[in-house]
Amino acid sequence: MTLALGCIADDYTGASDLANTLTKCGLRTVQTIGVPSDDLALPEVDAVVVSLKSRSIEASLAVAKSRAAEKWMRARGASHVLFKICSTFDSTDAGNIGPVMDALRADSGDPIVLVTPAFPETGRTVYQGNLFVGAVPLNESPLKDHPLNPMHDSSLVRVLARQSKGKVGLVDLTVISRGPDAVRARLAELAEQDFGAAIADAVFERDLETIGTAALDHRVSVGASGIGLGLARGLVASGRVNVNATTAVSDKPVGGAAACLAGSCSQATLQQIAKAEQTMAVLHLEPDQVVAGRGEAQRALQWAKERLDNGPVLIASSSTPDRVAALQARHGRDAAGHAIEQAMADIAEGLVKSGVRRLVVAGGETSGAVVDRLGIPGFLVGPEIAAGVPVLRAVGAADGEMLLALKSGNFGGPEFFSDALKLMR
Ligand code: ADP
Repeated sequence: MTLALGCIADDYTGASDLANTLTKCGLRTVQTIGVPSDDLALPEVDAVVVSLKSRSIEASLAVAKSRAAEKWMRARGASHVLFKICSTFDSTDAGNIGPVMDALRADSGDPIVLVTPAFPETGRTVYQGNLFVGAVPLNESPLKDHPLNPMHDSSLVRVLARQSKGKVGLVDLTVISRGPDAVRARLAELAEQDFGAAIADAVFERDLETIGTAALDHRVSVGASGIGLGLARGLVASGRVNVNATTAVSDKPVGGAAACLAGSCSQATLQQIAKAEQTMAVLHLEPDQVVAGRGEAQRALQWAKERLDNGPVLIASSSTPDRVAALQARHGRDAAGHAIEQAMADIAEGLVKSGVRRLVVAGGETSGAVVDRLGIPGFLVGPEIAAGVPVLRAVGAADGEMLLALKSGNFGGPEFFSDALKLMR
């Protein structure tokens, strides 16, 4: 296999989002969970997205994991590696974007790295180095209250400079609007002045194409799915990827029972669960019981087994912000979250043992816990259910053919669960 593009994603649902974008641009893409073992048989693909859970772990560990992923992809011919971060630049002054970027740049020998989390399609734009979420700067958006990585500064030049050992510059929109050669010239100038990274402005999709084309001259870039789109279009335009290559994903139905698990408490997911009540059997877990022990997961499994033959089921732990806050006050935030994630993983494991072959999971952390427990090493990326959420076909899974959909909290329309199952046959 010779990869046209290697990607390292700092979380699982972000990886699916990127893999989905690359697929839509015509790249045959596989998403792996962690660095694949050498015996994992992967089909011929153009891009691999190695999913890590490295967004909020200790920086040195994130660096080590990212380096291992990079090494694996370089050994398979990847001349360019994208470090995929969140489009809201989720990070703290300790990292992990800067430290991982510094390490990948050092390994690649590149003098300077282009960085942009812009993804105009989802309302993330960058102007004069400031990240906007919709109409407001990052520090006025809900990300200012993020439980793990509160973002209080919209200037990504400043944010990244606090995390990186090198100097951070800017390629502003006037340069970007003049096209790839102007970007190349600006980067050369910045590299000459010893800058190790440059935030790139991007407001429109065409800006991402300019950035992607220029970034392909380098061996590393950093950004969200938007820069992935730019890189993919650059690879296709330059003939390095043949969009007519036969697709790696089969659309053969897998059959088997279908189930949905929801651990996300986002507004969107709460609405989607309410809507699903009209079309499928829904069980609401008792969160206090879940934290108290494993009995609640067993009860849920029993409930599901009695219904699986009659159609899809949905099991949800999700509740409203006031109830979540009350549970966290009783048990501690991390303990409550962890117990519920593990219960979801227990339930997923039991469901698959009972014949479920089509599984939809709502929630980023929840998806991570489920996929880890099921021991699925990778996925081929299929059709898109909703923006950023593709159907995933497991590869190399011990339980054989299986389809999954992993949705981060706010994604998808009100009918997301039934929309997903319609495409997962
Ligand atoms: P999202 O993608 O919406 O952020 P996640 O799965 O990443 O969803 O995060 C949701 C977190 O909330 C998980 O740690 C999950 O275990 C936890 N959780 C789920 N249900 C509840 C609940 N009823 N009370 C408290 N925490 C919950």
